[in-house]
Amino acid sequence: MSEQALSQPCADQDQIAWIRIASVFLPLANPISDAKVLTGRQKPMTEIAMLFVEIESKDGHRGLGFSYSKRAGGPGQFAHAKEIAPALIGENPSDIQKLWTKLCWAGASVGRSGLSTQAIGAFDVALWDMKAKRAGLSLARLLGAQRDSVRCYNTSGGFLHTPLDQLMKNTDLSREKGIGGIKLKVGQPNSAIDIERVSTVRRHLGDDFPLMVDANQQWDRPTAQRMCRKFEEYNLVWIEEPLDCYDAEGHAALAAAFDTPIATGEMLTSVAEHAEFINKRGADFLMPDAPRVGGITPFLKIASMAEHAGLMLAPHFAMELHVHLAATYPTEPWVEHFEWLEPLFNERLETRDGRMLVPTRPGLGLSLSDRVAGWTAQHVEIGQRA
Ligand SMILES: [Mg+2]
Repeated sequence: MSEQALSQPCADQDQIAWIRIASVFLPLANPISDAKVLTGRQKPMTEIAMLFVEIESKDGHRGLGFSYSKRAGGPGQFAHAKEIAPALIGENPSDIQKLWTKLCWAGASVGRSGLSTQAIGAFDVALWDMKAKRAGLSLARLLGAQRDSVRCYNTSGGFLHTPLDQLMKNTDLSREKGIGGIKLKVGQPNSAIDIERVSTVRRHLGDDFPLMVDANQQWDRPTAQRMCRKFEEYNLVWIEEPLDCYDAEGHAALAAAFDTPIATGEMLTSVAEHAEFINKRGADFLMPDAPRVGGITPFLKIASMAEHAGLMLAPHFAMELHVHLAATYPTEPWVEHFEWLEPLFNERLETRDGRMLVPTRPGLGLSLSDRVAGWTAQHVEIGQRA
Protein backbone atom coordinates (compact mmCIF):
# COMPACT_ATOMS: atom_id res chain seq x y z
CA MET A 1 0.00 0.00 0.00
CA SER A 2 1.38 3.43 -0.93
CA GLU A 3 2.00 6.24 1.58
CA GLN A 4 -0.81 8.16 -0.09
CA ALA A 5 -3.27 5.28 0.34
CA LEU A 6 -2.30 4.97 4.01
CA SER A 7 -3.14 8.62 4.58
CA GLN A 8 -6.72 8.09 3.28
CA PRO A 9 -9.47 7.08 5.72
CA CYS A 10 -10.75 3.49 5.42
CA ALA A 11 -13.60 3.37 2.90
CA ASP A 12 -15.25 0.35 4.52
CA GLN A 13 -19.00 1.05 4.79
CA ASP A 14 -20.10 -2.57 4.62
CA GLN A 15 -23.34 -3.61 6.33
CA ILE A 16 -24.90 -6.88 7.39
CA ALA A 17 -27.66 -7.50 4.83
CA TRP A 18 -28.92 -11.06 5.34
CA ILE A 19 -28.89 -13.73 8.06
CA ARG A 20 -30.01 -17.34 7.92
CA ILE A 21 -30.47 -19.26 11.17
CA ALA A 22 -30.98 -23.04 11.19
CA SER A 23 -31.72 -25.56 13.91
CA VAL A 24 -30.12 -28.86 12.89
CA PHE A 25 -30.28 -32.20 14.74
CA LEU A 26 -27.22 -34.30 13.95
CA PRO A 27 -27.85 -37.99 14.71
CA LEU A 28 -25.05 -39.97 16.39
CA ALA A 29 -24.16 -43.46 15.16
CA ASN A 30 -24.34 -44.96 18.70
CA PRO A 31 -26.06 -43.72 21.89
CA ILE A 32 -23.34 -42.17 24.08
CA SER A 33 -22.94 -42.71 27.84
CA ASP A 34 -20.63 -40.99 30.29
CA ALA A 35 -20.77 -41.04 34.11
CA LYS A 36 -23.85 -38.77 34.16
CA VAL A 37 -25.79 -41.61 32.52
CA LEU A 38 -24.41 -44.34 34.81
CA THR A 39 -25.35 -42.34 37.90
CA GLY A 40 -28.88 -41.94 36.47
CA ARG A 41 -28.79 -38.18 35.92
CA GLN A 42 -29.05 -38.21 32.14
CA LYS A 43 -30.19 -40.52 29.35
CA PRO A 44 -27.70 -41.74 26.69
CA MET A 45 -27.14 -39.06 24.05
CA THR A 46 -28.45 -39.84 20.56
CA GLU A 47 -28.07 -36.51 18.73
CA ILE A 48 -26.46 -33.07 18.90
CA ALA A 49 -28.56 -29.93 18.40
CA MET A 50 -26.62 -27.51 16.18
CA LEU A 51 -27.48 -23.85 15.73
CA PHE A 52 -26.03 -22.63 12.42
CA VAL A 53 -25.85 -18.96 11.46
CA GLU A 54 -24.91 -17.73 7.99
CA ILE A 55 -24.37 -13.99 7.52
CA GLU A 56 -24.00 -12.10 4.24
CA SER A 57 -22.95 -8.45 3.91
CA LYS A 58 -23.99 -5.78 1.40
CA ASP A 59 -20.56 -6.14 -0.25
CA GLY A 60 -21.09 -9.90 -0.62
CA HIS A 61 -18.85 -11.17 2.19
CA ARG A 62 -20.05 -14.32 3.95
CA GLY A 63 -19.54 -15.90 7.34
CA LEU A 64 -20.59 -19.23 8.87
CA GLY A 65 -20.90 -19.79 12.60
CA PHE A 66 -22.39 -22.34 14.96
CA SER A 67 -23.34 -23.05 18.49
CA TYR A 68 -24.66 -26.32 19.87
CA SER A 69 -26.37 -28.09 22.68
CA LYS A 70 -26.22 -31.65 23.94
CA ARG A 71 -29.62 -33.02 25.04
CA ALA A 72 -32.12 -30.19 25.82
CA GLY A 73 -31.62 -26.59 24.66
CA GLY A 74 -31.47 -26.63 20.84
CA PRO A 75 -34.97 -25.22 20.16
CA GLY A 76 -34.42 -22.59 22.88
CA GLN A 77 -31.14 -21.43 21.34
CA PHE A 78 -32.87 -21.17 17.94
CA ALA A 79 -35.79 -19.18 19.38
CA HIS A 80 -33.47 -16.71 21.11
CA ALA A 81 -31.26 -16.33 18.03
CA LYS A 82 -34.31 -15.61 15.85
CA GLU A 83 -35.49 -12.93 18.24
CA ILE A 84 -32.18 -11.02 18.50
CA ALA A 85 -30.92 -11.40 14.90
CA PRO A 86 -32.75 -8.29 13.47
CA ALA A 87 -30.50 -6.11 15.70
CA LEU A 88 -27.57 -6.99 13.39
CA ILE A 89 -29.12 -5.87 10.08
CA GLY A 90 -27.45 -2.69 8.78
CA GLU A 91 -24.50 -2.94 11.20
CA ASN A 92 -20.86 -3.08 10.06
CA PRO A 93 -19.91 -6.78 10.30
CA SER A 94 -16.35 -5.93 11.40
CA ASP A 95 -17.51 -4.24 14.64
CA ILE A 96 -17.65 -7.59 16.38
CA GLN A 97 -17.21 -6.45 19.99
CA LYS A 98 -19.91 -3.79 19.55
CA LEU A 99 -22.26 -6.36 18.02
CA TRP A 100 -21.66 -8.89 20.81
CA THR A 101 -22.57 -6.22 23.36
CA LYS A 102 -25.63 -5.17 21.33
CA LEU A 103 -26.93 -8.76 21.14
CA CYS A 104 -26.25 -9.23 24.83
CA TRP A 105 -28.30 -6.14 25.74
CA ALA A 106 -31.09 -7.22 23.37
CA GLY A 107 -31.62 -10.25 25.64
CA ALA A 108 -30.36 -8.72 28.88
CA SER A 109 -33.35 -9.76 30.95
CA VAL A 110 -32.65 -13.47 30.32
CA GLY A 111 -29.08 -13.10 31.53
CA ARG A 112 -25.46 -13.03 30.43
CA SER A 113 -24.74 -16.73 30.50
CA GLY A 114 -26.20 -20.03 29.37
CA LEU A 115 -28.65 -20.37 26.51
CA SER A 116 -28.87 -16.63 25.72
CA THR A 117 -25.11 -16.17 25.23
CA GLN A 118 -24.84 -19.51 23.40
CA ALA A 119 -27.31 -18.13 20.84
CA ILE A 120 -25.06 -15.05 20.49
CA GLY A 121 -22.09 -17.40 20.05
CA ALA A 122 -23.30 -18.60 16.64
CA PHE A 123 -23.46 -15.00 15.32
CA ASP A 124 -20.10 -14.14 16.88
CA VAL A 125 -18.36 -17.11 15.23
CA ALA A 126 -19.94 -16.22 11.86
CA LEU A 127 -18.70 -12.60 12.14
CA TRP A 128 -15.13 -13.73 12.95
CA ASP A 129 -15.29 -16.22 10.06
CA MET A 130 -16.33 -13.39 7.72
CA LYS A 131 -13.62 -11.06 9.03
CA ALA A 132 -10.89 -13.69 8.50
CA LYS A 133 -12.22 -14.53 5.03
CA ARG A 134 -12.23 -10.90 3.91
CA ALA A 135 -8.63 -10.60 5.17
CA GLY A 136 -7.76 -13.77 3.21
CA LEU A 137 -6.46 -15.41 6.38
CA SER A 138 -7.28 -18.49 8.41
CA LEU A 139 -9.00 -17.62 11.69
CA ALA A 140 -5.84 -18.64 13.61
CA ARG A 141 -3.70 -16.28 11.52
CA LEU A 142 -6.18 -13.41 11.84
CA LEU A 143 -6.07 -13.75 15.64
CA GLY A 144 -2.29 -14.26 15.71
CA ALA A 145 -1.16 -17.90 15.62
CA GLN A 146 1.65 -19.31 17.77
CA ARG A 147 1.89 -22.60 15.89
CA ASP A 148 0.54 -24.38 12.79
CA SER A 149 -0.49 -27.58 14.58
CA VAL A 150 -1.88 -28.42 18.02
CA ARG A 151 -1.46 -31.55 20.18
CA CYS A 152 -4.66 -33.56 20.01
CA TYR A 153 -6.21 -36.39 22.02
CA ASN A 154 -9.15 -38.67 21.35
CA THR A 155 -12.26 -38.76 23.56
CA SER A 156 -14.88 -40.46 21.40
CA GLY A 157 -13.32 -43.94 21.75
CA GLY A 158 -13.28 -43.94 25.57
CA PHE A 159 -16.92 -43.56 26.63
CA LEU A 160 -18.49 -45.78 29.29
CA HIS A 161 -20.84 -47.64 26.94
CA THR A 162 -17.73 -49.08 25.23
CA PRO A 163 -16.60 -52.52 26.49
CA LEU A 164 -12.93 -52.81 27.50
CA ASP A 165 -11.85 -54.92 24.50
CA GLN A 166 -13.41 -52.41 22.10
CA LEU A 167 -11.76 -49.59 24.08
CA MET A 168 -8.34 -51.12 23.37
CA LYS A 169 -9.15 -51.38 19.65
CA ASN A 170 -10.28 -47.74 19.67
CA THR A 171 -7.00 -46.61 21.23
CA ASP A 172 -5.04 -48.49 18.53
CA LEU A 173 -7.19 -46.87 15.83
CA SER A 174 -6.61 -43.39 17.29
CA ARG A 175 -2.85 -43.88 17.38
CA GLU A 176 -2.86 -45.12 13.78
CA LYS A 177 -4.66 -41.88 12.80
CA GLY A 178 -1.83 -39.84 14.34
CA ILE A 179 -3.78 -38.72 17.41
CA GLY A 180 -1.46 -37.93 20.32
CA GLY A 181 -3.44 -38.85 23.46
CA ILE A 182 -6.33 -40.96 24.76
CA LYS A 183 -9.03 -39.88 27.20
CA LEU A 184 -11.10 -42.39 29.16
CA LYS A 185 -14.38 -41.69 30.88
CA VAL A 186 -14.52 -42.67 34.58
CA GLY A 187 -16.83 -41.72 37.46
CA GLN A 188 -18.90 -44.90 37.55
CA PRO A 189 -20.76 -45.88 40.73
CA ASN A 190 -18.34 -48.87 41.02
CA SER A 191 -14.89 -47.25 41.13
CA ALA A 192 -13.13 -50.63 40.86
CA ILE A 193 -14.29 -50.78 37.22
CA ASP A 194 -12.81 -47.31 36.60
CA ILE A 195 -9.45 -48.43 38.02
CA GLU A 196 -9.45 -51.64 36.01
CA ARG A 197 -10.17 -49.83 32.73
CA VAL A 198 -7.52 -47.16 33.35
CA SER A 199 -4.82 -49.60 34.48
CA THR A 200 -5.50 -51.93 31.52
CA VAL A 201 -5.33 -49.11 28.99
CA ARG A 202 -2.23 -47.63 30.66
CA ARG A 203 -0.47 -51.02 30.34
CA HIS A 204 -1.60 -51.27 26.73
CA LEU A 205 -0.35 -47.77 25.81
CA GLY A 206 2.94 -47.93 27.73
CA ASP A 207 4.04 -45.63 30.57
CA ASP A 208 4.53 -42.42 28.63
CA PHE A 209 1.74 -42.19 26.03
CA PRO A 210 -0.50 -39.26 27.03
CA LEU A 211 -3.59 -40.57 28.89
CA MET A 212 -6.34 -38.50 30.55
CA VAL A 213 -9.48 -39.40 32.53
CA ASP A 214 -12.82 -37.56 32.78
CA ALA A 215 -15.31 -38.11 35.64
CA ASN A 216 -17.97 -35.74 34.24
CA GLN A 217 -18.72 -34.20 37.68
CA GLN A 218 -19.91 -37.43 39.27
CA TRP A 219 -17.73 -37.65 42.42
CA ASP A 220 -18.37 -35.95 45.74
CA ARG A 221 -15.39 -34.37 47.49
CA PRO A 222 -14.29 -37.41 49.56
CA THR A 223 -14.59 -39.75 46.55
CA ALA A 224 -12.67 -37.30 44.36
CA GLN A 225 -9.86 -37.18 46.97
CA ARG A 226 -9.65 -40.97 47.05
CA MET A 227 -9.78 -41.38 43.27
CA CYS A 228 -7.24 -38.63 42.58
CA ARG A 229 -4.88 -40.34 45.05
CA LYS A 230 -5.37 -43.74 43.37
CA PHE A 231 -4.85 -42.26 39.91
CA GLU A 232 -1.53 -40.59 40.85
CA GLU A 233 0.37 -43.76 39.89
CA TYR A 234 -0.92 -43.79 36.28
CA ASN A 235 1.02 -40.73 35.07
CA LEU A 236 -2.14 -39.03 33.74
CA VAL A 237 -2.00 -35.77 31.78
CA TRP A 238 -5.03 -34.65 33.79
CA ILE A 239 -8.10 -35.68 35.79
CA GLU A 240 -11.12 -33.89 34.34
CA GLU A 241 -14.25 -32.66 36.14
CA PRO A 242 -13.73 -34.70 39.30
CA LEU A 243 -16.42 -32.57 41.03
CA ASP A 244 -19.54 -30.57 40.28
CA CYS A 245 -18.66 -28.09 37.53
CA TYR A 246 -19.42 -25.06 39.73
CA ASP A 247 -17.34 -26.23 42.74
CA ALA A 248 -14.33 -23.94 42.27
CA GLU A 249 -13.04 -24.38 45.85
CA GLY A 250 -13.23 -28.18 45.61
CA HIS A 251 -11.36 -28.25 42.30
CA ALA A 252 -8.75 -25.83 43.70
CA ALA A 253 -8.16 -28.09 46.73
CA LEU A 254 -7.56 -31.11 44.44
CA ALA A 255 -5.27 -29.09 42.17
CA ALA A 256 -3.22 -28.06 45.21
CA ALA A 257 -3.14 -31.52 46.81
CA PHE A 258 -2.13 -33.78 43.91
CA ASP A 259 0.65 -33.91 41.32
CA THR A 260 -1.78 -34.92 38.56
CA PRO A 261 -3.19 -31.73 37.00
CA ILE A 262 -6.91 -31.00 37.37
CA ALA A 263 -8.89 -29.98 34.27
CA THR A 264 -12.31 -28.34 34.18
CA GLY A 265 -14.37 -25.56 32.60
CA GLU A 266 -16.37 -27.15 29.78
CA MET A 267 -19.75 -26.61 31.46
CA LEU A 268 -19.16 -22.95 32.28
CA THR A 269 -21.16 -20.56 30.12
CA SER A 270 -19.67 -17.10 30.55
CA VAL A 271 -16.47 -15.11 31.08
CA ALA A 272 -17.58 -14.40 34.67
CA GLU A 273 -17.93 -18.11 35.51
CA HIS A 274 -14.46 -18.81 34.11
CA ALA A 275 -13.03 -15.80 35.97
CA GLU A 276 -14.10 -17.37 39.26
CA PHE A 277 -12.20 -20.60 38.48
CA ILE A 278 -9.14 -18.67 37.29
CA ASN A 279 -9.10 -16.44 40.38
CA LYS A 280 -9.56 -19.38 42.76
CA ARG A 281 -7.05 -21.55 40.85
CA GLY A 282 -9.77 -24.15 40.36
CA ALA A 283 -7.99 -25.73 37.36
CA ASP A 284 -4.50 -26.52 36.09
CA PHE A 285 -5.94 -27.04 32.59
CA LEU A 286 -8.81 -24.68 31.76
CA MET A 287 -11.28 -26.11 29.22
CA PRO A 288 -13.37 -23.24 27.81
CA ASP A 289 -15.83 -24.03 25.02
CA ALA A 290 -16.28 -21.09 22.63
CA PRO A 291 -19.91 -21.77 21.60
CA ARG A 292 -20.87 -22.42 25.25
CA VAL A 293 -19.40 -19.13 26.53
CA GLY A 294 -20.93 -17.01 23.73
CA GLY A 295 -18.42 -17.28 20.90
CA ILE A 296 -14.86 -16.32 20.02
CA THR A 297 -15.06 -12.81 21.55
CA PRO A 298 -15.61 -14.05 25.14
CA PHE A 299 -13.31 -17.06 24.57
CA LEU A 300 -10.40 -14.72 23.83
CA LYS A 301 -11.02 -12.85 27.09
CA ILE A 302 -11.00 -16.14 29.04
CA ALA A 303 -7.82 -17.32 27.28
CA SER A 304 -6.13 -14.03 28.07
CA MET A 305 -7.01 -14.31 31.78
CA ALA A 306 -5.91 -17.96 31.85
CA GLU A 307 -2.58 -17.06 30.27
CA HIS A 308 -2.01 -14.28 32.80
CA ALA A 309 -2.74 -16.74 35.65
CA GLY A 310 -0.28 -19.28 34.21
CA LEU A 311 -2.91 -21.95 33.45
CA MET A 312 -2.72 -24.51 30.67
CA LEU A 313 -5.46 -24.64 28.02
CA ALA A 314 -7.46 -27.52 26.54
CA PRO A 315 -10.67 -26.25 24.87
CA HIS A 316 -13.67 -28.57 25.04
CA PHE A 317 -15.24 -30.31 21.97
CA ALA A 318 -15.84 -28.57 18.56
CA MET A 319 -12.29 -29.21 17.26
CA GLU A 320 -13.27 -27.57 13.95
CA LEU A 321 -13.35 -24.20 15.74
CA HIS A 322 -11.03 -24.80 18.69
CA VAL A 323 -8.02 -25.88 16.63
CA HIS A 324 -7.81 -22.23 15.44
CA LEU A 325 -8.24 -20.78 18.94
CA ALA A 326 -5.82 -23.21 20.61
CA ALA A 327 -3.22 -22.33 17.98
CA THR A 328 -3.08 -18.79 19.40
CA TYR A 329 -2.40 -19.79 23.05
CA PRO A 330 1.18 -19.06 24.20
CA THR A 331 1.88 -22.35 26.02
CA GLU A 332 1.33 -25.68 24.26
CA PRO A 333 -2.39 -26.55 24.50
CA TRP A 334 -4.41 -29.70 23.72
CA VAL A 335 -7.39 -29.91 21.39
CA GLU A 336 -10.06 -32.61 21.71
CA HIS A 337 -10.53 -34.94 18.72
CA PHE A 338 -14.16 -35.90 18.11
CA GLU A 339 -15.24 -37.05 14.65
CA TRP A 340 -18.93 -36.49 15.56
CA LEU A 341 -19.38 -33.16 13.74
CA GLU A 342 -17.59 -34.31 10.57
CA PRO A 343 -20.80 -35.17 8.61
CA LEU A 344 -21.88 -31.51 8.88
CA PHE A 345 -18.93 -30.19 6.88
CA ASN A 346 -17.32 -30.84 3.50
CA GLU A 347 -13.78 -30.44 4.87
CA ARG A 348 -11.75 -32.75 7.15
CA LEU A 349 -9.08 -31.88 9.70
CA GLU A 350 -5.74 -33.63 9.35
CA THR A 351 -3.93 -35.35 12.23
CA ARG A 352 -0.28 -36.34 12.08
CA ASP A 353 2.41 -37.28 14.65
CA GLY A 354 0.09 -36.63 17.58
CA ARG A 355 -1.04 -33.23 16.34
CA MET A 356 -3.96 -31.63 14.51
CA LEU A 357 -2.95 -29.35 11.65
CA VAL A 358 -4.50 -25.87 11.70
CA PRO A 359 -6.39 -25.44 8.41
CA THR A 360 -4.89 -22.80 6.14
CA ARG A 361 -8.11 -22.05 4.23
CA PRO A 362 -9.63 -18.58 4.85
CA GLY A 363 -11.77 -18.20 7.98
CA LEU A 364 -12.71 -21.37 9.82
CA GLY A 365 -12.15 -23.18 6.53
CA LEU A 366 -15.56 -24.85 6.76
CA SER A 367 -18.57 -25.20 4.45
CA LEU A 368 -21.83 -27.00 5.22
CA SER A 369 -22.33 -30.40 3.60
CA ASP A 370 -25.43 -31.31 1.58
CA ARG A 371 -26.53 -33.67 4.36
CA VAL A 372 -27.29 -30.73 6.69
CA ALA A 373 -30.54 -29.92 4.80
CA GLY A 374 -31.95 -33.35 5.70
CA TRP A 375 -31.27 -32.81 9.42
CA THR A 376 -32.68 -29.26 9.54
CA ALA A 377 -35.73 -28.98 11.82
CA GLN A 378 -36.46 -25.28 11.29
CA HIS A 379 -34.82 -22.27 9.71
CA VAL A 380 -35.48 -18.58 9.21
CA GLU A 381 -34.07 -15.83 6.98
CA ILE A 382 -33.81 -12.21 8.06
CA GLY A 383 -33.04 -9.23 5.78
CA GLN A 384 -32.35 -9.31 2.03
CA ARG A 385 -29.51 -10.98 0.13
CA ALA A 386 -27.32 -8.49 -1.70
MG1 LIG B 1 -15.26 -33.55 29.63
